[in-house]
Amino acid sequence: MSAPVRPRWRPTPLVQASVGLHAVALAGLFTPAWPWSLGALAADHALLTAAGLWPRSSWLGPNLTHLPRALPQVALTIDDGPDPQVTPAVLDLLDELQAVATFFCIGEHVQRHPALAREIVRRGHAIGNHSQHHRHHFSVLGPARLRREISAAQDTLADITGVRPAWFRAPAGLRNVFLDPVLHGLGLQLASWTRRGFDTRTGDATLVLRRLTRHLSGGDILLLHDHHAARTPQGQPVLLEVLPPLLAAIRAKGLQTVRLEPVGQ
Ligand SMILES: [Zn+2]
Repeated sequence: MSAPVRPRWRPTPLVQASVGLHAVALAGLFTPAWPWSLGALAADHALLTAAGLWPRSSWLGPNLTHLPRALPQVALTIDDGPDPQVTPAVLDLLDELQAVATFFCIGEHVQRHPALAREIVRRGHAIGNHSQHHRHHFSVLGPARLRREISAAQDTLADITGVRPAWFRAPAGLRNVFLDPVLHGLGLQLASWTRRGFDTRTGDATLVLRRLTRHLSGGDILLLHDHHAARTPQGQPVLLEVLPPLLAAIRAKGLQTVRLEPVGQ
């Protein structure tokens, strides 16, 4: 029996419209109406750029921002690790609180701390692809470099942990129009989040907790960080202070934590 064939990649309506507009506007550059064509091209590029800078938008391709709302489930996602200073304590805390999470790992961090990456999987958590180097200019890379960056992380994570991720999260959630076909070609799906605590920017645990629990409901995907975690005034990674009350708030609403699982494409 032959392997299942993945459906062809399809651009979103916004991307299809942009391609059509380009054809018309480029032809218009050679007519007296060229200023209008130039303006239309500039506006289209601005719109595509804005869509890529909005982490939760689905204008450039499918983007998971929440789980099914009908289920009493919340997905904790923890980005940028593994980090030997923070991740072991996070794993112990999650065990103690009987919670599971999805760790969006950076490939080069997994290469540096392979035993820790394997420990994440051994403790029953999921691993996601957060690119090989977490480059700050990820969202301006062309298709070939995007593909290299993501497939290198995919190979690193699979070789070291034995698990090939199903989900990809863009560095800082920023992306461009080339990402969706690249992910499709690699068999990955894009996940962002419902809400985040901005826990890389503030060590105020109360504020981070409030951001994560305001309107907390079934289906939420919450974003936290182990590597790059801001420190509390006592010098503790803020995530460690936030997890116990966050899990208490999740339980108080009758919700339970789940991992991000692969879904049919
Ligand atoms: Zn990140």
